[in-house]
Amino acid sequence: MEVNYRSTRSNAAPISASKAILKGLADDGGLFVPDHLPKLDRSLSELADMNYQEVAYEVMKLLLTDFTEEELKHCIESAYDDKFDTKEIAPLKKADGAYYLELFHGSTIAFKDMALSILPHLMITAARKNHIENQIVILTATSGDTGKAALAGFANVEGTRIVVFYPKDGVSPIQEKMMVTQEGANTCVVGIHGNFDNAQNGVKAIFTDEALKEKMDRAGFQFSSANSINIGRLVPQIVYYVYAYTRLLKQGVIKEGEKINFTVPTGNFGNILAGYYAGKMGVPIGRLICASNSNKVLYDFFTTGTYDKNREFILTSSPSMDILISSNLERLIYHIAGDDAAKNAALMDELKKDGRYTITKDMEEKLSQFYGGYATEEDTAKAISSLYESDGYVIDPHTAVARSVYEGYRKATGDTTPTVIVSTASPFKFETSVLKALGKETNADDLALADTLSKIAGVPVPKAVACLRGARVLHTGVCEKDKASMQKMVEKFLGIEA
Ligand SMILES: *Cc1c(COP(=O)(O)O)cnc(C)c1O
Repeated sequence: MEVNYRSTRSNAAPISASKAILKGLADDGGLFVPDHLPKLDRSLSELADMNYQEVAYEVMKLLLTDFTEEELKHCIESAYDDKFDTKEIAPLKKADGAYYLELFHGSTIAFKDMALSILPHLMITAARKNHIENQIVILTATSGDTGKAALAGFANVEGTRIVVFYPKDGVSPIQEKMMVTQEGANTCVVGIHGNFDNAQNGVKAIFTDEALKEKMDRAGFQFSSANSINIGRLVPQIVYYVYAYTRLLKQGVIKEGEKINFTVPTGNFGNILAGYYAGKMGVPIGRLICASNSNKVLYDFFTTGTYDKNREFILTSSPSMDILISSNLERLIYHIAGDDAAKNAALMDELKKDGRYTITKDMEEKLSQFYGGYATEEDTAKAISSLYESDGYVIDPHTAVARSVYEGYRKATGDTTPTVIVSTASPFKFETSVLKALGKETNADDLALADTLSKIAGVPVPKAVACLRGARVLHTGVCEKDKASMQKMVEKFLGIEA
């Protein structure tokens, strides 16, 4: 049965998966959600005998129903190949009684690779299916991580171009180096003299410029977006929840049908939402433990029923979770409102107007699968050092937030259900924080610190970091923070300046 995608904010007619991927956001500003969630049509033990790519196909074919088998398999094979440094793609490591699902074996050593390595292929396939002749131009503003993951995903993918704007003085040296050394003639990286908000606003303004849209169309280009609300990023994330369950089954840790928990370090709520969908599709999931850092807006939401972004923004050692508006939460709100777009739209209006909303008791009752927790900076550092002391296993600060929250959950509930901790970044990506947590000296350059960490952790320096040694800077573009200056950079790159 076909799955179509409807908006969380209106009853406009649902559209096909490929159209939803191309559009990103619905015209009414809502997010696309599947009109129903199909059940897995293979048993969990059958899936346990498949590799990552095969599991990916079995899951994604159910949700991207207007893609042919050949198209989908081609996308999967192009994404999950030797860009990943292990054949398992997403290995599970047992440490201190929990199972760490390592989602950092792709080209930028963080979990966004899981979706951003396949999104470009889904997007150009979607364009072809919908008879779009134009080249797809991805425009992204980044505070560091997403930009590089998108660049790596789109680099050298035929029929696409990608332009990334980042705050020139607002990213870490290693993040900047990773971006400006990006290869691929279809990539463009520009530093702006401004902050992330300036970059984001400029990108939004360029996106919605009708005159530019026409000019681009005449030259054979059109914009699309790779941000985390695109269902082309959400659907591939469901795969590793199915995969993790079936690996535990294969290893004999659980019996078919036995429930497991997941603990997910959360920011925009995309990752954990994929886990929720996996559960609806038939993966036996007990609790979904939502772990926040000191920006604990989600913890407060799960404990009080009120979402309130009116608070101080705190910079932490887990920067990819420093978020006050978790965009993907809107999809969960829509579902617990009984798939009621009007009810959801009213709450989102409140959020826009007052920065807060409160859900009804009925809705709260539908959240019982979720458990919210948070970790302070001190908790996070302790989670890194204690796991290293007990098991010699080194985790990054985002994963450490999850470990800390899981420890708290276990103490509070006594729940001994086997639990997967979703490990979202390699410790090498955040080596200064990790080494500090381990009580080590951090007065050295980034590459020397990587060597130190490699000795401590007993794992080689990942290729993504090692290859920065002596890498050539390929992008030197810099511009002012106003829209006109940024637009000029885009036009120059596309060869369409006046
Ligand atoms: C993006 C990110 C997260 C948060 O994931 P969401 O899907 O936004 O909740 C957690 N950890 C790392 C390392 C990330 O890059």
